[in-house]
Amino acid sequence: MYNPKSLKAEEFINHEEILDTLKYADENKDNLELVDSLLKKAEELKGLTHREASVLLACEDQERVQKMYDLAEKIKKDFYGNRIVMFAPLYLSNYCVNGCVYCPYHLKNKHICRKKLTQEEIEREVIALQDMGHKRLAIEAGEDPVNNPIEYILESIKTIYSIKHKNGAIRRVNVNIAATTVENYRKLKEAEIGTYILFQETYHKESYEKLHPTGPKHNYAYHTEAMDRAMEGGIDDVGLGVLFGLELYRYEFAGLLMHAEHLEAVHGVGPHTISVPRIKRAEDIDPDVFDNGISDETFAKICALIRICVPYTGMIISTRESKEVREKVIRLGVSQISGASRTSVGGYADGGEEENSQQFDVSDQRTLDEVVAWLMENGYIPSFCTACYREGRTGDRFMALCKNRQIQNCCHPNALMTLKEFLMDYASQHTKELGEKMIEQELDNIPNEKVRELCKKHLIDISNNKRDFRF
Ligand code: SF4
Ligand code: SF4
Repeated sequence: MYNPKSLKAEEFINHEEILDTLKYADENKDNLELVDSLLKKAEELKGLTHREASVLLACEDQERVQKMYDLAEKIKKDFYGNRIVMFAPLYLSNYCVNGCVYCPYHLKNKHICRKKLTQEEIEREVIALQDMGHKRLAIEAGEDPVNNPIEYILESIKTIYSIKHKNGAIRRVNVNIAATTVENYRKLKEAEIGTYILFQETYHKESYEKLHPTGPKHNYAYHTEAMDRAMEGGIDDVGLGVLFGLELYRYEFAGLLMHAEHLEAVHGVGPHTISVPRIKRAEDIDPDVFDNGISDETFAKICALIRICVPYTGMIISTRESKEVREKVIRLGVSQISGASRTSVGGYADGGEEENSQQFDVSDQRTLDEVVAWLMENGYIPSFCTACYREGRTGDRFMALCKNRQIQNCCHPNALMTLKEFLMDYASQHTKELGEKMIEQELDNIPNEKVRELCKKHLIDISNNKRDFRF
């Protein structure tokens, strides 16, 4: 039985409910009156249910699809403005005991170079990342209780936060590790992580079990219920995601929204972020063997609909996507992107690609300085802001601020101040010129006058080599 409040995976992600939803969507995809009413409802920024959203996803009427794009763009503009938050992944270890058939780190892959960073190596990676200008990381590690126990992850987080190289600092560490126990989530919370991220990969239980034939990840319920345990452990910012291409995208899309509804129903707060990775080529993995791949057009529609259906949830896109695709979906609602990513263990300090330890091929190969300049050339403010969790604005407190639109008086000045830090410490001459011009123009867009004045003062402080101001 479908029950969003249940703590059992198969009840809050209920297979029959998804099939019913898809049937309802097929029956109503040409019901333009209904589609129009849903678009109207979405304009109120209160989101849409998985059933409603699935009707929009199935609808192929070009005029309505264009309206979905326009609305996503409007929500993105009104709510997130023109800011894009930057981050980088940091791979700690690719030892893994699981058998995920789409990932080159799976246990049976004997061609890949296995590597686990020592604390000294982590320090070198972090210095390399700081020297690019990064302030926010997402750490990644395979599941391996012997090689990557929770103690190793905790020690690594401590190392990362402790490194202060020149003016650099990593101010927020998000964590993407395997589903674990409430106790371990509590430890991660104590280590002051930002968001706990765990991709569901696929919500389709039968496919899930086939795609994860061996290892602890085979357990669908344990994996799907992980976010509830994380929240029980005190982590209130959690990040969802599916790996598009594994199962039928309409099924995944409904499941993803049901998961968000479940978190809201049980914990009073939805996901902090949703990531939208698509399966990519990698060592030992050919994406063509997965026959559920989605076109760029469908991908863009999914991004637009996520923006419409969960307007307060950040959306993340990685360097799996090309510059062209990123350009398109940033407009439609993506709020966070990675830049200059290395998906290999030790890839920043050592250029570890040659060692063949990558998790996937990176489509966007530009440097961080190039990505920052490109964003500004396209009218976006690259932001290195990490203020919210450091100010205790997490979970429902963060959501309340979002819903009252108060976040605008924080995000905008924080974006400008952290951009200024980047310009002072890491930017090329070209980027610097673009950035100074942008800061000058964008200061006027801070709604609150007091905040604006204080921001101006801090910008001067930053020119005078002071750092780390935030609202
Ligand atoms: S997806 Fe994660 S759990 Fe699966 S093989 Fe890769 S690293 Fe291991
Ligand atoms: S103020 Fe908070 S929501 Fe806004 S960009 Fe910074 S961390 Fe994100």
